[in-house]
Amino acid sequence: MSIRPHRIAVIPGDGIGKEVVPAGLQVLDAAAARFDVPLEYEHFDFASADYWLAHGTMLPDDWFETLRGFDAIYFGAVGWPDVVPDHVSLWGSLIQFRRRFDQYISLRPCRLLPGIPSPLVGRAPGDIDFVVVRENTEGEYSSIGGKIFHDTDREVVVQQTVMTRTGVDRVLRYAFELASRRERRKITSATKSNGITISMPYWDERFAAMGEQFPEVERDQFHIDILAANFVLHPDWFDVVVASNLFGDILSDLGPACTGTIAVAPSANINPDGLFPSLFEPVHGSAPDIAGKGIANPIGQIWCGAMMLDHLGHPDASSAILAAIDTVLERAEPGILTPDVGGGGTTSSLTRAIADAVADAS
Ligand code: ATP
Ligand code: MG
Repeated sequence: MSIRPHRIAVIPGDGIGKEVVPAGLQVLDAAAARFDVPLEYEHFDFASADYWLAHGTMLPDDWFETLRGFDAIYFGAVGWPDVVPDHVSLWGSLIQFRRRFDQYISLRPCRLLPGIPSPLVGRAPGDIDFVVVRENTEGEYSSIGGKIFHDTDREVVVQQTVMTRTGVDRVLRYAFELASRRERRKITSATKSNGITISMPYWDERFAAMGEQFPEVERDQFHIDILAANFVLHPDWFDVVVASNLFGDILSDLGPACTGTIAVAPSANINPDGLFPSLFEPVHGSAPDIAGKGIANPIGQIWCGAMMLDHLGHPDASSAILAAIDTVLERAEPGILTPDVGGGGTTSSLTRAIADAVADAS
């Protein structure tokens, strides 16, 4: 019996995206071979500055029809500010994907890796291992509002927060399901009901209601201000952290910052219903300062591949990639590691070592 391959749209984008995406594919291939996962790639050159220069847009007119049938999108980085202003490249590509493919979950794993120093003094791998689940479509980032009495002393500006029951419940359900699959089975909600007195209490109410359906998951909630402080003071308290769009945005930068370097941090924009492809991209950008030098750290992109395999239903292959990253970092061979983590190696030396470790996985 032949299994239908997972169809992956590969979009390297700009700068080091063009270097770390092939590296990520090399490791994905090793995992696919080791665990018998059928993957089929199709490469696209849009969502890049080169495409913009040639066509005057970031995406072709038919991008939605072209991409919607794929099982996942493996994305590098978009942005080349010398050529396209950042808001144009971002709004012309990733934001369109997020909206049209209803990627209502943004996921940011925050795990301290071996050999990567945390800015939090005295923290070791094992102390920091949590996931931020951010609501990605509504909440504080609505464009509803306006300004009246323009250019007078009486100017008034209002911008609304929008929370729908569907929107809140679907992100909470995803987060609870994720927590119930993890070892610690703990969920923390970010809130601010003492200051934002209508929408945040509603979030709290839905959080409590959803919690009733997951009695096996331990529940906790903090106001966002003290939660941010506790990310720094007690990162070991957290397992799954669920938050509205604005709070999740802030926590999903703070979390990876606690784990040392953005070069190794992955993210995913997920459509859990499976109606549209989900997108996997590293947290870092196109890094123009090191692009083309062959020294970009590929770990963030490689970790994205692990998240993609997990999403596609291959947890063993996914775990093998994570274990291989740990193994190679633990060995700490200076000739293998890239300069950003203190080595003298290259993208390709680090990639090869991780791919070999995946191939050796038992
Ligand atoms: P964005 O493009 O998302 O706005 P940014 O411009 O803030 O991001 P990046 O492009 O991610 O930032 O780069 C920030 C810094 O981190 C740069 O000095 C860059 O060289 C470094 N950096 C980013 N990613 C990597 C990587 N994979 N390996 C090594 N260094 C990296
Ligand atoms: Mg940048």
